[in-house]
Amino acid sequence: MSSDLVIVYHRQPYEEVEENGQIVRKENKSPNGIVPTLKSFFRRVDKGAWVAWKLSETPNEPDFDRVIEIEDSYGTYSVSRLPLTEAQVKSFYHVTSKEAFWPILHSFKEKYDYDPVDWPTFREVNWAFAEAAANEAAEGAVVWVHDYNLWLVPGYLRKMRPDLRISFFHHTPFPSADMFNVLPWRREIMESLLSCDVVGFHIPRYAANFVGVAESLFSIETGPREPVNPDFVKEYVALSDRKVAQWVENEGRRVQVLASPVGVDVDYIEGKAGTEDTLARAQQIRTEMGDGAMILSVGRTDYTKGGADQLMSFERILAENPDLHGKVRLMHVSVSANRNMAVYESIQSEIEEFVGRINGRFGTFDWTPVTLMSRAIPFDELVAYYRAADVCWITPLADGMNLVAKEFAACRADLRGALVLSEFAGAAIEMGSAVLANPFSHKSMDRALLQALNMGEEEQENRMRDMRDTIRKYDIRAWAEDQMAGFSGIDAAP
Ligand code: UDP
Repeated sequence: MSSDLVIVYHRQPYEEVEENGQIVRKENKSPNGIVPTLKSFFRRVDKGAWVAWKLSETPNEPDFDRVIEIEDSYGTYSVSRLPLTEAQVKSFYHVTSKEAFWPILHSFKEKYDYDPVDWPTFREVNWAFAEAAANEAAEGAVVWVHDYNLWLVPGYLRKMRPDLRISFFHHTPFPSADMFNVLPWRREIMESLLSCDVVGFHIPRYAANFVGVAESLFSIETGPREPVNPDFVKEYVALSDRKVAQWVENEGRRVQVLASPVGVDVDYIEGKAGTEDTLARAQQIRTEMGDGAMILSVGRTDYTKGGADQLMSFERILAENPDLHGKVRLMHVSVSANRNMAVYESIQSEIEEFVGRINGRFGTFDWTPVTLMSRAIPFDELVAYYRAADVCWITPLADGMNLVAKEFAACRADLRGALVLSEFAGAAIEMGSAVLANPFSHKSMDRALLQALNMGEEEQENRMRDMRDTIRKYDIRAWAEDQMAGFSGIDAAP
């Protein structure tokens, strides 16, 4: 019970790799990504702690240390590792989180699968996370819980430790009431979230949806929306303390609903993109790709990312524009992260099938229209791709934020390249100077890509300058400051 800040995030804050038959823990040296950003908060406190799960079939073996001390470039902090069996991980993560919550969060009702959900296991795992956090937290500490797979943690934690300041951040979209309320456990989840001091989202629309869900389920009042920074999208929506207190335990608690978009480390990415090595590699990629324009699409293989819709659009464009044959190439990076899950396997096959069809239909000995990569590209290498591309084509059907779009702009200090971005990525709110596309409309999709391919240099520069100004202003540090302000605002709440 000694940590001022406890971060509850399902992944461990380091990589585990096998070396000479031994598993060793390695700090991921790249500051890119959410884990290093979260760890950087430990530099702001005397003592930090992290709670995550670790696969273990033998949790009671003496060599399994549940709490370990880590010393790395972020300081010294403890990591509580919850031993979960494969069956627990499957039930809590792959089934409940990915088959029930994920589709609803992204408004895909038709993909939602309630039947296999084993709710007691979800509760049990969330309880274990809450207990571990309660064990680590000092009196009045901030406990910062992340993402929907830990939705029940705040409610349990509040009962265990009423003294704690609890903040929750959603890294996904948050849907409207008629979508969210499909979840049979909607009340239990919302009661837990409304026992937080702060509930955070990327953009105001998600925050407003959350308030809408709360209103649909409970008799509460919602406070006025006070724009904190009229410059941008940030706003707080205060839920009335009185009414919230009727059904959460701590009387008089005000739940602050905060919208703050997670950003990228622009300086770091720009620095990487400008090194001699990266520029040489970018040149090499261009040469390997051959003449003509290079279109880059990067995402996970997930139905929310719209990979298949992009390929269909590309096929239509090639069918209708023979002048583009031999002049454009699509590098389609679709990383399969969720092997062994039927839904992801079927998307992967669909993508492979589309790529095969396009290449078979239009390709020649000298020209392969689409190159598919299904393995993750290391970030250092990805930066060279960003730098080499003429068009970055990012059109998810739903996406909480989309960091790829921001990383692309961060790499383009040369002010070249065009970004096509889905209106349904959270990032579109900040990056209005991208060519915005509606992935549910064939016309809009096809037109946006053609517009980007035909964009003149001056227009590329103007749009890129605008986007870069915004992502620099709302970079990862600005997000961190917002989160800190949210924590300290808890003290001031009535
Ligand atoms: N990424 C990567 N290699 C790849 C594809 C993606 O390193 O081959 C990284 C990318 O740089 C970005 C993250 O994965 O930081 C994807 O984040 P995003 O918000 O775009 O999508 P998410 O996968 O979180 O939905």
